[in-house]
Amino acid sequence: MPGGNAAGSVGETGKLPALPLSRIAMTFASLGLAAPLLQALDALGYQTPTPIQTEAIPAVLAGRDLMAAAQTGTGKTAGFALPVLQRLSEGEKAASNTIRALILVPTRELAEQVHASCRQYGEHLAVSTYAAYGGVSINPQMMRLRRGVDLLVATPGRLLDLFRQNAVKLKQVEMLVLDEADRMLDLGFAQELATVFAALPKQRQTLLFSATFSDEIRSLAKARLREPLSIEVAPRNSTVKAIRQWAVPVDKKRKSELFLFMLKDRQWQQVLVFVKTKKGADELVARLQAKKIAADAIHGDRPQAARQRALDSFKAGEVKILIATDVAARGIDIDELPQVVNFDLPIVAEDYIHRIGRTGRAGASGEAISLVCADEAPLLTAIETLLKKPLEREEEPGFEPDHRVPATGPAAAAAKPKKPKAARGGKGVPGNWVGFDTPAAGRGRRGGAPSRGAGKPRGR
Ligand code: AMP
Repeated sequence: MPGGNAAGSVGETGKLPALPLSRIAMTFASLGLAAPLLQALDALGYQTPTPIQTEAIPAVLAGRDLMAAAQTGTGKTAGFALPVLQRLSEGEKAASNTIRALILVPTRELAEQVHASCRQYGEHLAVSTYAAYGGVSINPQMMRLRRGVDLLVATPGRLLDLFRQNAVKLKQVEMLVLDEADRMLDLGFAQELATVFAALPKQRQTLLFSATFSDEIRSLAKARLREPLSIEVAPRNSTVKAIRQWAVPVDKKRKSELFLFMLKDRQWQQVLVFVKTKKGADELVARLQAKKIAADAIHGDRPQAARQRALDSFKAGEVKILIATDVAARGIDIDELPQVVNFDLPIVAEDYIHRIGRTGRAGASGEAISLVCADEAPLLTAIETLLKKPLEREEEPGFEPDHRVPATGPAAAAAKPKKPKAARGGKGVPGNWVGFDTPAAGRGRRGGAPSRGAGKPRGR
């Protein structure tokens, strides 16, 4: 059709018309972002800022500290990366062995992912970026830092190694981002964070992102942030509405069999499966591979290169089933995954929210299926209390358990109040979202679920 293809005209696909370029630019531009960033966003197909971006970007550009409650999938990375990149582009380049902005993340995978996003967003800016994490040789990292880096994404342990070896100085840091701060504490990085803070200048901008807000996170924010703007984008403890969640009661010894059955019966194409232990992950991979199903695992015992390969193959569709432990899966970003299966329930209830956040993203619908055996009832109770609703149960014909899964949910928990566990072990166990506004005193881990680290892998 002659002359019919101006921006904004109805596309050939019959889908909604594309937005006119001027409007795309206006939307992100109205937040104060500069042209080189708008150009990158346009190329990436980001048309409208997400709620967290709408709130965070102008505040960060204005130099404010930020305390944001946001999960993976909300667009939080762009929420901090875009304004940080813009601010960096406005100043002097980093001198040798110095960095100007530091993004601390809990895992190597997240470091890679956040760095990849920063590179994409900053493609048209003269801002140097780099990622440094453990599990790989430190020498190339030391060499790269010699030239100075404007924006460094790092895991706390490796950053401190580099700092102690004088490969990086921290006194020039203008901006600090703590991404997934709850998980960093959960992984036991509190001491490392304290050391990093001691080495940073007092005068700086600090942004803290966390999916959950424990007492520990709040006291960290209180001590390290200056009059932060608080942002919360998703309702507390809520999970994305488009996700259909249910539990399938099953005997522990029949979980693999049930999973294989459902995989075939429902014709699942790509599934992310969460297991409790590394050993459990390897065993399930072996079982699936024995059935000629392309499966791979990511967990802490696998070398970084193997983890990345597994993730890339899964994203490319070559691997059909990716089996992950919670720590390894944290922060991985896989678009529009239709199914997430909890082969084992998480020991820490909040991880349930993180896990199922991998499905039903960006408006796409998804399913989160939990295979639950009788001795996981306390973990199920903890999850249901956190969700403030019971998980629907659906038995799979032929797999009805011999060992019934006891009644759970808030009602069952209220009927049998349990005393909180005594010691919490000191390490940053993620707090109770339920207790976000109320003093946490007297609130224990609901349903008697053991704290992270205290839970012994059972029978796997
Ligand atoms: P995050 O919550 O930062 O892990 O981002 C989740 C996903 O959303 C990533 O794949 C981003 O590339 C994507 N994303 C972030 N912001 C936008 C946006 N404004 N429009 C479209 N996609 C976005």
